[in-house]
Amino acid sequence: MSLEDALRAAPDGARLRAVRVAGTTATILADASGLAADERPALEARLKAAALGHEGVTEVRVALTATKASAPVMIAVGSGKGGVGKSTVAANLAVAFARLGKRVGMIDADIYGPSQPTLLGGHTKPEAAEKQLLPVATDAGIDLLSVGQLVRPGHALAWRGPMASGALMQLVEGRWTGHDLLVIDLPPGTGDVQLSLIQKAKPAGAVIVSTPQDLSLIDAVRAIDLFRKTEVPVLGLIENMAGYACPHCGQASDPFGQGGAEAAARSLDVPFLGRLPLSASLREESDAGRPPAAGEGPAADAFLGLAGAILASLETAAAPAG
Ligand code: ADP
Repeated sequence: MSLEDALRAAPDGARLRAVRVAGTTATILADASGLAADERPALEARLKAAALGHEGVTEVRVALTATKASAPVMIAVGSGKGGVGKSTVAANLAVAFARLGKRVGMIDADIYGPSQPTLLGGHTKPEAAEKQLLPVATDAGIDLLSVGQLVRPGHALAWRGPMASGALMQLVEGRWTGHDLLVIDLPPGTGDVQLSLIQKAKPAGAVIVSTPQDLSLIDAVRAIDLFRKTEVPVLGLIENMAGYACPHCGQASDPFGQGGAEAAARSLDVPFLGRLPLSASLREESDAGRPPAAGEGPAADAFLGLAGAILASLETAAAPAG
């Protein structure tokens, strides 16, 4: 086996960029992107040791490069109040973005009910390196940092003001290298914790989730107002739990009325991204850690459509006016 093949088969193989052997000297070029300063010497030492173990190699030179990672684009998912399906929608959107080719991370900042570890399948407590939290790989394939990974169930609720903001910023300032997009599941409502998080994290855009009930829409209007005040472009409104298709007879009904969110979006001059029906399978699959956006069928199609609409809205928001 050549030295290059042997190194490619080793644990650091994915980082190899080039291997040259001249006489008994091997020169190895490897990509150290995403590694902290204190991890680079260890990579260098491992590559050296592996090459020196190869027959005929007595000297090894290692050069490490790093492609400068651009900061990921952050999309906040918010709602005026709890229970409207914000976290469920955020988890499925994250999966849909990944299916559209994005490298996606999730920040679960919902101190009132951090459900992303369950929705995405990733309860492990994150490790830290150089005071930065390292995102946890989840079953759904979305890297995750969640309040729920840091505290015992129910304990984050006790956080108030500056303490909550400080903890949430640790999630935002985690090691998000190698990600194109970060979805941030905000706490519901429009209080100080949300305001301070939005001001500090400065998301590129926000998506609002609302149900068709009037009360929830009034709250959604408040959420839109919060983003406007903080100069975060509102990418659009998603109407969730809109209408119900009877699983037995297929008849569609609208227990909470229809079109309210769309009309509200129009009057508030924010894009209407689409509606998701009340669906027992969406709830069951999502709550069991199997986001339906990862599969096939109407729910997956709906989330892929919403994700595409959000990316388009993001481009419009980012385009210079004129
Ligand atoms: P929030 O983050 O707004 O508090 P969650 O995402 O936790 O809300 O959702 C609350 C409950 O509603 C969960 O059990 C979830 O599975 C369920 N749910 C969300 N969206 C739908 C839907 N479209 N159809 C049926 N159940 C839903």
